[in-house]
Amino acid sequence: MRAGFPEFRLGNVLATSFTGTLSERHGNAVERIPAPHRLIDWLAVNGLAVDSCTTAQLDLARELRESIHAAATAAAIQEPLPASAVAVINDRSSQGRAAAILTPEGKRRWRLSPASCVEDALSVIAADAISIIAGERDGKLALCASPTCRAAFFDTSQSRTRKWCDMNTCGNRQKKARFNANRRKTPIAAE
Ligand SMILES: [Zn+2]
Repeated sequence: MRAGFPEFRLGNVLATSFTGTLSERHGNAVERIPAPHRLIDWLAVNGLAVDSCTTAQLDLARELRESIHAAATAAAIQEPLPASAVAVINDRSSQGRAAAILTPEGKRRWRLSPASCVEDALSVIAADAISIIAGERDGKLALCASPTCRAAFFDTSQSRTRKWCDMNTCGNRQKKARFNANRRKTPIAAE
């Protein structure tokens, strides 16, 4: 049904999964939420279902996304957080009315208000970004080692030595590149 649109990369950290909706920022960038209905799809996959989304709301979402990317990148390389990015994250965080709900099964889900759903969903994402940038959660912000990606990701590995934002994409590509480089170095005997 959604043929022709780039697929989502799913991660287990909401804020960096969201920044991952634009990938290969330093190469051939892939926009994974090119239209409002794709933001609706992405939010649904991430437990933040909304009924509708306007292009203005999509713009708000993308502005938040790039602000999280900028602030998380600065945090990862221990540079001062860009003030404009911090302002956008704080605006989005404070302008939503999402409530954390405990289900009878003991799980947390988000309840959004009926009136301004996209803004509510963005406030949950902004708050998630704040918790990882503020160092409240167990893990470390790092940048993907792929030179065309450089995505900020949240490393929760025990050794904190994860190199790639995603093993299936950037990690795999790097492994393949190294394999091919090694093959070129080793003279291949005539068959
Ligand atoms: Zn990457």
